[in-house]
Amino acid sequence: MKSISEMAARGATRAAAWAVIAGLMAGTAVGSPPSVAAPPAVASLPAAEAPTAAPAAAQSAPATIPAAAAARKTRTVVLIVSDGLRWQEVFKGAEADLLNDKEGGSWLSSEELHKRYWRQSAAERRAALFPFLWGTVAKRGQIFGNQALGSVAHVTNGKAFSYPGYNEMSTGYPNDAIDSNEFGPNPNPTVFEWLNKSEEFSGRVAIYGTWSVYDNIFNKARSGLVMQTGWSLPRKEHETPRDALLRELFATSTQFDEEDCPNSFLQVPLIDYVKSGRPRVLFVGYGETDNWAHQGRYDLVLDSAHRFDFFVKQLWDTMQAMPAYRGSTTFILTTDHGRGSGLTEWKEHGVEEKGSENIWIAVMGPDTAPLGERMRVAPVAQAQIAATVAAFVGKDYNAAVGKAALPIGAVLAAAPGQHAPK
Ligand SMILES: [Zn+2]
Repeated sequence: MKSISEMAARGATRAAAWAVIAGLMAGTAVGSPPSVAAPPAVASLPAAEAPTAAPAAAQSAPATIPAAAAARKTRTVVLIVSDGLRWQEVFKGAEADLLNDKEGGSWLSSEELHKRYWRQSAAERRAALFPFLWGTVAKRGQIFGNQALGSVAHVTNGKAFSYPGYNEMSTGYPNDAIDSNEFGPNPNPTVFEWLNKSEEFSGRVAIYGTWSVYDNIFNKARSGLVMQTGWSLPRKEHETPRDALLRELFATSTQFDEEDCPNSFLQVPLIDYVKSGRPRVLFVGYGETDNWAHQGRYDLVLDSAHRFDFFVKQLWDTMQAMPAYRGSTTFILTTDHGRGSGLTEWKEHGVEEKGSENIWIAVMGPDTAPLGERMRVAPVAQAQIAATVAAFVGKDYNAAVGKAALPIGAVLAAAPGQHAPK
C-alpha cells in the first residue's frame, strides 16, 4: 500500500519511529496475542487469461439471483486484505535466506527468528506462521495461489500496487487511469457502494481499514458507506473507558506513517463495531505487512503476518459466537498485490519487480466446499472478487456491471456435502 512507502520510503530508513510502534504492538493485541514461530525460489508467473466478463448492462440496484440465492446459507460476507502479503509466505512460510540481518534487515536474532518461524517442511512453516489460515480456513474452505501446485491467483491491472489492486477487487475490473495511490476519489462505484444502495443492506456495509486512502478508493464522500480508516477515530456519543483509552492512543501514538495506523489500532474498533453495528457486508484492510516489507524488516513482516492471522481468527471467533453470524458468514481473504522475490526485491512491488502480479485468495463459509489447497486449477483473478462478494449474499453484480469479471465459481458451486465443483 502506502503512497509514502511507495516512494519516499524506498531506501530510506524510518526504523526509529517504527521501533516505537513495534514495541507498542507487542503489548496491545486484543485477547491473547499470538506468540510466534521457505525456502525454494519463486515460481515464474504464467500469464493467465483475464476472466470472462458478463454482457454489459447499466448499473442498477442489486437484483437477487433467484435460484442460487435461495440455496445459499451465507447472509454476511467479509473481505479481508493483508496488504502486500506475498503468496510465497502464505504457501511456503518463512524464507530461509531472509531470516537474518544481512538480507532480511531483521533486528531479531537469526536464532530467535528460526525459533519462531523456521520448520523443516513448508507445510510446518506455513502452519507456524498462519495457524488459523492453515488449521481452519484451508481445511474448511479453499485457497488459491500456490503456483508450485498449478494454482495461480493474479491481478489483471498491470500495475501491482495498492490503489489499482483495491480498485480491481472491489469494482470487478481494472481501471487504467488509476496510476497512482494519489489518484483521488474513485470515479467508479465499488461492489460495496452498489450493495449499500439496496434496502436490504443499506447502512450495513462497512469499510474498516488502517489506510486513509480507502476514503478515496471507496469514495467516502459519494458512497455513504460506514467507514473507519487511517488515524481518524471519531468520538463516540457515549464513550466507554475502552473507547476513551483507544482514542487517547490514536491521539498520542507516534505516526510511523501518517496515512496508516497499526493493525492493532484497527482491530479494537472493528471488533466493537461488529458487535454493535451488525454489518452484513464488511471490508477489512490491514496495512502492516506491506509497510514493514518496504522498510526492509523481514522479521516484522513475519510478525505482522502472524498477527494478521490472529486478527482474522479473532474476528471469525467473535462472529461465530453471535447468533446473527454463526453458520451464515463467509470470509474471503486476499492481498492487493504480490511483491518481487530473491534477496532484495521482496521489499518492493510493481512492474519492475517480477512476479508482483501474483496473489492468493482464500474463502471459507457455509457455501464453500472444503476442497482445501487448490491444485491444477484454472487461474483466478483479483477482478473476480467483487462479483464473488455479491454472489455470496445473493446478488448478481455482473448483471449490473457489465465490465466486472464473473465470480469464482469453485467457491460458490457446492455446499459441503454436495457434489464438489471442478
Ligand atoms: Zn507497497
